[in-house]
Amino acid sequence: MIPSILPTYNRAPLSFVKGEGSWLIEADGRRFLDLGAGIAVNALGHAHPALVAALTEQAGALWHTSNLYQIPRQQELADRLVAATFADTVFFTNSGTEACELAVKMVRRHFHDAGQPERTDIIAFEGSFHGRSSAGIAAAGSEKMTKGFGPLLPGFRHVPWGDHDALHAAIDDNTAAILIEPVQGEGGIRPLPDQCLKGLRALCDERGMLLILDEVQCGMGRTGRLFAHEWAGIAPDIMMVAKGIGGGFPLGAVLATEHAASAMTAGTHGSTYGGNPLGCAVGCAVMEQIANAEFLAEVSRKAGLLRQRLEGLVAGHPEIFEEVRGIGLMLGLKCRALNADVVQAGYDALVAIVPAADNVVRLLPPLTITDDEISEAVNRLDAAATQLETA
Ligand SMILES: *Cc1c(COP(=O)(O)O)cnc(C)c1O
Repeated sequence: MIPSILPTYNRAPLSFVKGEGSWLIEADGRRFLDLGAGIAVNALGHAHPALVAALTEQAGALWHTSNLYQIPRQQELADRLVAATFADTVFFTNSGTEACELAVKMVRRHFHDAGQPERTDIIAFEGSFHGRSSAGIAAAGSEKMTKGFGPLLPGFRHVPWGDHDALHAAIDDNTAAILIEPVQGEGGIRPLPDQCLKGLRALCDERGMLLILDEVQCGMGRTGRLFAHEWAGIAPDIMMVAKGIGGGFPLGAVLATEHAASAMTAGTHGSTYGGNPLGCAVGCAVMEQIANAEFLAEVSRKAGLLRQRLEGLVAGHPEIFEEVRGIGLMLGLKCRALNADVVQAGYDALVAIVPAADNVVRLLPPLTITDDEISEAVNRLDAAATQLETA
C-alpha cells in the first residue's frame, strides 16, 4: 500500500522536534549538531530571536493580502535587495524552482520583445541543479531527474562543467542565455573559478546573451559574500535566490537588471503567495542580520577555521575521505567510503550532514555556528570516520 506521504524521499528515521541555534533536538532527546541547516536554508540557525520576533509580530498583524495590493514588507525587502546587489528589480517567489521558472520566462520574453523571438535557447551545465519544476529539470537535464517526465521543455543545451570548447560550440544565433551555479551544490560542491565566471560574463557581453546565476544555495552569505559572484567582481543579468533568504520560511526571489527585466510588464507573471507579508517580514530580518560587512567577515573567518580542521580530518582518515572542497561555509568532503555510509555514521555520532553527487558529503552549517561548535562538529565527524574504519 502506498504510504500516506507520497514516497519520493528516502528519509532518515529521525524526527526533530526542536531547534536551537546550530542544534537539532530529536524526539528522544538526543542533541544533534546541524551541519546541514535544512540544506542551506537555516542560514541563521534555528529559532533565531530576530526571526522569531519578525515572524510573530507579522503573524499578529496580517498574514496575507495577495498581490492585488501594496505590500509594505515586500517593498522594504525589494528595496533592501536592490540596495545591496547589482539588481534594479525583484520578483518574490516561494521557492528556488519557481525562481527558475521566472528566470526562463524573463529571458524568453526579453528577446521576444527585442524583436529576436528565435533566441530562446539557454545553455546550462552538467551536474547542475535548478529545482524540480518542468523548467528546472529541463534546465539541469540529468537522466536521474528527467527520466519518464518527457516531453521535456525544449530550449536547453547542456555542456560539461568546465569544458570551454563545448561551451563555445554550443552557442549559436538562437542562444539567449547562460545559466550556471557559481558553486554547484547538489552536484557535489564544485566552485566555478573566478576566472571562468569572468569569462562567462565577457562571453555573454560579446554575444548579447544574458547571464543567469543560480545562487539559490550559494547565495545569502554562504560563501562569505552576500552573493557568491561578488568574489569574481562581476554581476549577472538575472539571479535566482531562495533557501537562505527566508531563513526557514519558504521564500525565493528573482533579481534582475532593468535591461533584462524590461519586458516583464503587468500581467506577464504572478504568484498568489509570492512576497506575502509573513515571508517578507522574515526576509527583511534575515537581510538585516546577513547583509553587513561584519557578519560576512565572521562567516569567512569561521569558514577558515572549519576548513583547516577539515583538512586535518581528511589527513587523519585517508581511507574515508579524499579532499575538502568548496568555499566559505559551503564545504564538501569528497569521500572514499560511500557518502551515504558517512552520513549514517554522522548520525550515529550525533552530527547531521548532507549527501551530494560525486560521492561528496556537504557541510552547510548555520552561518551563526560558533567556534566551539565547529570544534565539536569536527570531533563528531572524526568519531564517525573512526567508526567506519573499525566497522
Ligand atoms: C535547492 C535549489 C533549487 C531549488 O529550490 P527549491 O526551493 O527546492 O525549489 C534550485 N537551484 C539550486 C542551486 C538549489 O540548490
